[in-house]
Amino acid sequence: MLRAHSNRSIVHTLCACFALLSLGACATAPPPAAQTAVIPDDQRPERVVLITIDTLRADYVGSYGSKLARTPTLDRLAAHGVRFETAISPTPMTMPSHTSLMTGLDPTLHGVHSNAKFRLNDEIPTLAEQFQAHGFETAAFLSSVVLDRRYGLARGFDVYDDRMGFRRNIAGATGGYAERTADQVVDATLQWLDSAPNRFFLWVHFYDPHGSYDPPRGFRPKQSATTASPEEVGSLEYVKQAFPPLYAGEIYFADTELGRFLRIMNRKFAADRTLLVVTSDHGESLGEHGELTHTLTLYDATQKIPLLMKGPGVPGGRVVDAQVRLVDVAPTILSLSGLPAIERTTGQDLGPWMRGEREDGLEAYVETLETHLAYGWSPVLGLRTSEYKYLRTVRPELYALGTDPHELNDLAASQPAKLKKFDEALEAHLGDALPVVPNAVAPPEEIALLESLGYVVRESNDDEHPLGWVGGADPKDVLGTFIKILEARSKLTGGDAAGARKILDSEPEAGGWVAHVRAEIELELGDAEQAERLAREVIAAQPHHAEGYLVLGEALELQGRTQDAVAAYEEAARTNPNETASLVALARISEAAGQLDAAELRYREALDANAPSADAALRLAALYYDRGLASDAHATLSKAGVLDAAGPDALIRLTRAETKAGYRADALDRLERALKRKDNEQHAAVYAELGGSSEN
Ligand SMILES: [Zn+2]
Repeated sequence: MLRAHSNRSIVHTLCACFALLSLGACATAPPPAAQTAVIPDDQRPERVVLITIDTLRADYVGSYGSKLARTPTLDRLAAHGVRFETAISPTPMTMPSHTSLMTGLDPTLHGVHSNAKFRLNDEIPTLAEQFQAHGFETAAFLSSVVLDRRYGLARGFDVYDDRMGFRRNIAGATGGYAERTADQVVDATLQWLDSAPNRFFLWVHFYDPHGSYDPPRGFRPKQSATTASPEEVGSLEYVKQAFPPLYAGEIYFADTELGRFLRIMNRKFAADRTLLVVTSDHGESLGEHGELTHTLTLYDATQKIPLLMKGPGVPGGRVVDAQVRLVDVAPTILSLSGLPAIERTTGQDLGPWMRGEREDGLEAYVETLETHLAYGWSPVLGLRTSEYKYLRTVRPELYALGTDPHELNDLAASQPAKLKKFDEALEAHLGDALPVVPNAVAPPEEIALLESLGYVVRESNDDEHPLGWVGGADPKDVLGTFIKILEARSKLTGGDAAGARKILDSEPEAGGWVAHVRAEIELELGDAEQAERLAREVIAAQPHHAEGYLVLGEALELQGRTQDAVAAYEEAARTNPNETASLVALARISEAAGQLDAAELRYREALDANAPSADAALRLAALYYDRGLASDAHATLSKAGVLDAAGPDALIRLTRAETKAGYRADALDRLERALKRKDNEQHAAVYAELGGSSEN
């Protein structure tokens, strides 16, 4: 059995999720935002282009003062439009924040509190629906499976392209969310733009700055040239030194591709009738406050985002200093477009701020429930005003942002009266909240089915707390576990599994993630029974995630219990249809048993998924060579990006089949290119075996 451990991304595991929580409160509607009517109808935007660059913190944009990141496209936009100096996102997570952007509602009112567990309720109106209802063609191009249509944001879009680029399958491990790169999403958008009508609402989502950080050649800042990859070293100091330049490189790449898109769009459509809005869903901690990426804290590193607008009705070269919010974007876009406001939103039309008629800051609500939903720690909720940030958690925090912009000096103990005032304001804000119902995860009858299949499922569910409840571990006290996980994984990928085991020995569990890495360590050390036990712990903590079933499948396969492994992989495929590693494993097992038609079917399924598998493509091509279908093999391999994303085992499988079918030169050529990209012992050995010259 082959196992590929290299290049697993810890950065992704940190943003992953789950558990159940349910609560109550009632909902009332804030008044609709006022309409402004300062633009004559014949000068209104005919096209509205909304760009979100995922995981982009404001201070990594040049016009916001970044010295590290290069963002010429965004800076040009800021120079010709309005730049909002202080824009606040309500959550540090992709799906809840994008839902706030698309509805103008705080998470308390749209009900989506985390990735993959929630689906936007069909009754909540969206920005896209508003444009669609008023004769605009609507299209969205997404770059992460986190925004897959099944979570509810596709409503109102005529085109919702959520098909990702090829993904490398890493069975068992969290290989991160499937994504596509900026060049891929721009290519897809340009193809649509070719035959787009004159009037449209377009949303393009870039995901590059999200971990793991692997900017293309030419976009890596010079100072990172000798730096190891983030997986290779594990410590907070390493994170603070190594992450920023790589992160900045990803931002530079996204900015460059956005520039390419805008140049082509502006050649085709008059720029003076195009409203362009660029923002993000959250920032990135990069080691600040002890957090590696985002999700677990609410400091400005993750909550302060860029917000830029340019086009009809937007003054040129203006900076709005007042605090505004992501929820204000939808009301502002609709107002500038001359369309009716969404009936009930948290947000306000920012027109008066852009025109300099108002300068007061808008109070922003912030929350992360994922600390509780996925890790069993306390939720964190808070309010940010222009002057203060208040965070309610086990030990509440208060920061005076004017004198302490990095939120290092907690005033909670010294200013109890102010703390109490903010806590009451937060409580009032929560009064309207909808119940928290993770409506995208398995219903109770499916959990019962899992139990009947022998899976251990967490006792459900004694943690029914109302939104606003805090308790359990304070996240700021337990963030260190992720540094330990990073350290252990770096040892594991460096070949020191025993060292990795020692690091996690006494670490407390964090929603199944410690057990998960420990299971991988035991697999590497060959203790399949121990790995199985740990995998079942992962499933107990995370019954709605595919990863636990994947690692269980591996542990069972290693014990020779193939039929049990098949059941586990099938459960993984059912839990998350985009988790194609399970389909590839099932196909591989069918192939080994000589069931070639069944294998082909599974490989095809893995290729048709929204996040298609590169390993499936290579293994299917190999199967075609074995069956004498060389032209089918060539067609399968011709898909863009497939070879770059393939793992070493799949590449070797293809190479052998190709050689046997008489295409030895092609096989050698491909291996040579793979070796040029990345040194790999297995590839080098096969290359030598086939008689390639060993300059590599
Ligand atoms: Zn995000």
